[in-house]
This record gives sequence, structure tokens and C-alpha cells, in this order.
Amino acid sequence: MKNRKNISILNNNTPWKRLLVMSLRNRIAFYYTVATAFLIAMVFTITYLIVESVVYKQFDEKIKTEISEILSKAHITTKDFKGFASFQELDNNDSIDTEFVQVVNMIGEVVKKSSTLSWCALAFNPNQSGSTYFNNSFAGSVVRQAQVPLINPNGVTEGYLIVAVPLKNAIIVLNDLRNVFLYSFPAILFTLFVCTRMIAGKSIRPIERVIATAERMTQENLHQRIALPFHHDELYRLSSTINDLLDRLQEAFHREKQFTADASHELKTPLSTVKGTLEVLIRKPREKEHYESRIQFCLVELNRMAKLIDQLLMLARYESSSMRPNIERVSLLPHIEEVIDRMKGYAIEKNISIKMDQKESVSVAADPAILEMIFVNILSNAIKYSPGGSFITIAVERKSNTIVCSIADQGIGIPEEKINAVFERFYRVDTSRNSGTGGTGLGLSIVKKLADLQKIKVSLTSEKNIGTTFMLTIPSA
Ligand code: ADP
Repeated sequence: MKNRKNISILNNNTPWKRLLVMSLRNRIAFYYTVATAFLIAMVFTITYLIVESVVYKQFDEKIKTEISEILSKAHITTKDFKGFASFQELDNNDSIDTEFVQVVNMIGEVVKKSSTLSWCALAFNPNQSGSTYFNNSFAGSVVRQAQVPLINPNGVTEGYLIVAVPLKNAIIVLNDLRNVFLYSFPAILFTLFVCTRMIAGKSIRPIERVIATAERMTQENLHQRIALPFHHDELYRLSSTINDLLDRLQEAFHREKQFTADASHELKTPLSTVKGTLEVLIRKPREKEHYESRIQFCLVELNRMAKLIDQLLMLARYESSSMRPNIERVSLLPHIEEVIDRMKGYAIEKNISIKMDQKESVSVAADPAILEMIFVNILSNAIKYSPGGSFITIAVERKSNTIVCSIADQGIGIPEEKINAVFERFYRVDTSRNSGTGGTGLGLSIVKKLADLQKIKVSLTSEKNIGTTFMLTIPSA
């Protein structure tokens, strides 16, 4: 029940959710329009307020002049305000700008008024002390009004002079301005949204091309690339980054394909050799020595296959990054001596001597188990590809904050042009030359992988029929 409730909340197609899932160009247009709407609203409001205040200021000035004119003619001595002119000179019934003038006593009774007011009277506010300007409605229309206290020479307020001017024309102008702003606002926003949507659509067209190319892409057509946009902008960078990624993917995919093909080939060859040998052997009875030599041959092939499978598994483990090196401080010399002890039997069998001159103790930062695998592989190669009676020399040297360990043999060497290729998977310099060595062509690629895992640099120098030297540059601890 609870689950169903959650699902219904997720599926709830609220306008906000719809807004979140709307297309990029709609979103760009929407956000742009919202931001511009705020700006336009602000500009319109400020403009309206400025126009309004300018208009009112003009009316206020007019009222002010009027008041000072009236007051200059008046002489307030008694409460009946005899000193006031009859306001005749203000009467102008034909004019729209006719002023309304009115004098009230302290209790708000109209004492005098201009004929423009006829039977009406302007509103009096007994609580207003100073002279302020405000809008008021009078006889169905809006007026700008001011109310000033009438103070006699003794400083006593005797009444109030109220002056008003009609705002009719100004109000029409202000209303028109407000209507223009109000009606043009949605029209501007709508036009802006449509235009921005169009421009955004045009700008993100390269993204649509990226999507279309990515959708067409499968393992079979990994060679396809996204057409780069004309402008060197962010979309150009996005497209070229995706193209670079596709390059790397294609290469990795090709390598994987090659690896599978090579691995199956390498496994099939010894398998068919063993199968063929056994089939020939079973056809008729043979001498005991013949059986022994053929079985011995099959065992060598099977051992090679077992080694190959082990190495393939190891490579797969490292490539899937399921193995993390456990870096620690390793005392290098005892470590190398242990490896030499392990390989001693094999070296003696081939009458090869392994020498290590270094006696000074050095420590490196490495995973001891992985470091041992690297040494075993390089040393076994040195023994494998060296003639009997030769020497293998191991030297250790400190160079700034690294330790350089070199393993030099006096073996068959590697031709210069093939030196870099020996680290590739399944690469063997000369398959006929190496036949009988039980080599798989995987040893050095594993060495490279293991070295990369712990920031060890592997390099080699070699001269044909003179010897090969492998150099390991290991971070010191
Ligand atoms: P393999 O199992 O064939 O030895 P590796 O990856 O260990 O495979 O070596 C790749 C190739 O590099 C070898 O087949 C061999 O031809 C060459 N090689 C490696 N080490 C030596 C060496 N010390 N002297 C001469 N050739 C070597």
C-alpha cells in the first residue's frame, strides 16, 4: 500500500515536474524570459513612478504659486477673513485647469470659496497640520489638493486655505501610460519566449547531432565521429572530447578483439599439437623410448598451456582493476636475493651465474608480492634467452629519490626496432628463435602492467648477440 502511494507521488504529473522534464531549449527560453520579465517589470514600474512624480510635481508647483499669490493678497486679522480677495480673479469656468479655492475656519465651516466650486466644497482634514499635497476626489473627478493653515500676525491659526486643481488630463495620460505598460508586458514576454526558444534551438543543434551520432553508434560502426561545429566554443569542446573518447573506446575494443583472437590462437596451437602427437602415437605400438619422448613433448606443451592460462587470468585480474597494490617499505636487497634463490635451480641447469654486487641496503616503496613477480619474469627471461656459461648481473643504484635496479644478461639480445614491441601482449621477437623456450609472449606485458600499478618505470637496452639490460626505476621509501 505504502509502495503504491510512493509510485503515485512519483508519477504525479505536476506542472513543476513537467517543467523539470521539458526540453533544454524550452528551459533556456523559460529561464531567460522569467529573468527578463523581472527586469522589464522593474523598468516599467520605475518609469511610471518617475512620470507620475514629474506630473504631480508640476501640479504641486502650480498650487504652491497659487497659494502664495492668494496669501500675498490676504491679510488675516479676524476670524471672518475679510482680508481675503473675493477670488473673482481666479474664476475661469471655461478653463479645464480652473483652480478651486476655499477658506475654512477652525471647525471646518466654509467661510469663503471661489465661484468655480459653485455649490460644492473641498474636503477638509482637521488633523492635517502642515501644507501637504495629495490626490482627492471631488465632484466625480480627481483633483490635486493642498491645505495650508492661515496664521494671523499673533501666530494663531485662524483657519485653513484649501486649493485644488483638477487632474483630469494628467490622470488620462498616466492611465494611458499604465495601460501601454500592462498590455505590452505579456506581448513582449511572449515574443521574447518565442525568439529565445528559436535561438536556443539553433544554438543547441550540435547537441542534437551528438545525440543522433551516439544513437547510431554500435560495436560495428565505432568508427563514426561527431561533425565538429564551426565555432570553437563549449559545444566544439564537447564534440571533440566525445570524439577522443570514441577513439579510445575503439582502440580498447580493437585491443580486446585482438586479445581474444590471440589468446584462442595461442591455446589452440599447443592443443592441436598435443592432439596430433597422441593420435599418431596411438595408431600402432612403438618403442618405449619413443613413447617417453612424445609424452615428454606433450607435457612441455601442456605446461606451456597451463602457464598461458595462468598469465591470462592474471592479466584479466589486473585489467579489471580488481587488484590494488599494497604499497609498503621493502628492503630491496634481501628481496632480490630471495628471487635469485628461487631461480637458482633453473640458472644452474643452464650453467648461468647470477651476480649481485650491491651490498648497501636500500628501501623502496612497492608491493612486495608484485615486485617479486616483476623480478621473477625479468630474471627468468634473462636465463631463458642467455647461453650456458654466461653471467647475469644485478646492480642497484640510488638516483635522487628513486632506486634504479638493472638486470643485465649476456644473451641473444633484442633487435633495436623490436625493443618497444616486447611489452605488447603475445609478442615474441622471433617465434622460431624462441621455440622450445616455452614462452607465451605475455611475461613482459604482465611486467609492464604490474610496474604501472605501483609507479615503477621499466625500460630496456639491448644489443643483438651481446645482451639485454632491463632497468626498473622504483620510488625509494
Ligand atoms: P615470452 O614468454 O615469450 O618470454 P615475454 O613477454 O616475457 O614472453 O617476452 C617477449 C619477447 O621478448 C620474448 O619472446 C623474447 O623474444 C624477448 N625477450 C624478453 N626478454 C629477453 C631477454 N632477456 N633477452 C632476449 N630477448 C628477450
